[in-house]
Parts: sequence; C-alpha cells; structure tokens
Amino acid sequence: MIYLNGSFMPIEEARIPVLDRGFIFGDGVYELIPVYSRRPFRLKEHLRRLQHSLDGIRLENPHSEEEWANLIRQVISRNEGEDQSVYLQVTRGVAKRDHAFPKGVAPTVYIMSSPLLTPPRDQVATGVSAITASDNRWMRCDIKATALLPNVLLRQLAVDAGAVETVLLRDGFLTEGSASNIFLAKDGVLLAPPKSHLMLPGITYDVVLELADAHRVPFEVREISETELRGADEILLTSSTKEVLPITGLDGRPVGNGKPGPVFQRLYLLYQEYKATVMRNGG
Ligand code: PMP
Repeated sequence: MIYLNGSFMPIEEARIPVLDRGFIFGDGVYELIPVYSRRPFRLKEHLRRLQHSLDGIRLENPHSEEEWANLIRQVISRNEGEDQSVYLQVTRGVAKRDHAFPKGVAPTVYIMSSPLLTPPRDQVATGVSAITASDNRWMRCDIKATALLPNVLLRQLAVDAGAVETVLLRDGFLTEGSASNIFLAKDGVLLAPPKSHLMLPGITYDVVLELADAHRVPFEVREISETELRGADEILLTSSTKEVLPITGLDGRPVGNGKPGPVFQRLYLLYQEYKATVMRNGG
C-alpha cells in the first residue's frame, strides 16, 4: 500500500500524470527512512533534511512534521514486515512543460514502503569492493534530489566492474559514494570529509560520528585527499540501508590488509547496539 496525494492505495493502482515535473524534469526531492520493528529510525532528522532539500529547490513543505510522521506511520502499518524502508518524494506537481516554476500548482506527495534489505552477513564479514571515479555531479549534492542520473551512471560503473560502490573524488579530494557516505581509518583514527554542498549530509554519517564521539573513538572531520584514501588502513561506507559496511578492496587493490579492520568492527557493534537501544525507547 502506498500514499499518493491524500489517498492510500495498492501500488498497482497508483497513477502519476505524465506532465508531473518529477517525471519531466526530475524536479523533486526525496527521503529514505529505515524502519526497524515498525518504528521509523531518526525520523526527526530525516524530516529536517527533507526541509533542507525543499528549501534548496524552493518548494514549500506540503506537510508539518506531525502530518509527515502520521502519514509515514500509516504507510508502515498498512504494509507487512517488521523492518521496512520508507521512501517519500515531493515533486513540484503537474503543469504544462516549462522550466520556470508553475504558479498555484499543488506538489505531488508520494510515500511507499519496501522490505528493508540490509547487507548480507558475508558482506559485513568480508567487506565489499569499490571503485573510484571522478565526481561529475552538480554543486548542490547536499540536496536529496530525485534527479539522480549522475549517481545512476556512477553506480553502474561499479556494477560493471563487479563492485558494490563507486567512491567519488572531486579535485583530488574524497566527497562520498554514489549512494553512501565514505569514511577512512588511518592509524586508529576515523576520518570523515566535512559536510558541504559537495555531499549529502547522511543521517547514518551523523550517527557514526556521534557514536565515535560518545565512545572515544578518535576521529577527525576534514578534507581527505586521494593519496590518503589510497593509503587508508580501512575504508567504511554508511547509508540508511547499508548501515556501516567495510570496503576491503578499492580499484582492484586490497584496502590495508584486505580485511575489515578494528575501527569498522567497533563502529559496527556500536551502531547495532545504538539501533537496538533507540528502538527499545520508541524510535
Ligand atoms: N550520499 C548519497 C549520495 C546517498 O544517496 C546516500 C543514501 N541515500 C547517502 C549519502 C547516505 O545517507 P543516509 O545515511 O541518510 O542514508
């Protein structure tokens, strides 16, 4: 069951007019919220980022935080599965094709849920491989825009190479992955690139840095050069669906000793513990 513009219905019955600006221009933003034991994880933070994205594309938020929370809860309750992945999207609505913003048009609001597919055990145990590519996206990667063509093309490079993620470098510095944030570890210190318009401020990225801070894992948030990336002892990937995952191969070469390292192990356990605590306390 999905939610579309005021109604709940089976996904097969949902229809979007072809002139929706989401379809024509990719003129919309989205969020993806993991749901554990039927409770949305870090909902407030996701809704805050949604507001940031809407502000970034100059689209008024069609719902208050309470309304969003209520709609999301209804979608969760109308779908099966304890753990779900709730996707919501807002577009600038349906209008005659013209780049300029239409006047007096209602936005399209869509929410769906899928089973939450976290990484299989063997990926956590042995790590995944990644490739690098030049970050050729626009200069507002902090907006979670539905226009994901550059990310789609960059991710496909990884798939074509038999890898799981594409790690992006802009002007010789690490930005993020095609659909994840990237951290390194060197000599026991966790390194994270600073938030800027060049990367999506990941909800999981924040959780990992909060956990590092709370549990005295040494960390630095600063620019990370390509040389540092290639000389890292460990590389980690984070996202709402992948959680925290070790990257053990980069461009066909092992990262460090080619095995998930101690910084990953620590953060992975802290993340799982934190998740369990948050969900026990109501999400
Ligand atoms: N960067 C990009 C480009 C992404 O698509 C994602 C996942 N949506 C992330 C980072 C990670 O963000 P989050 O932890 O909020 O899922």
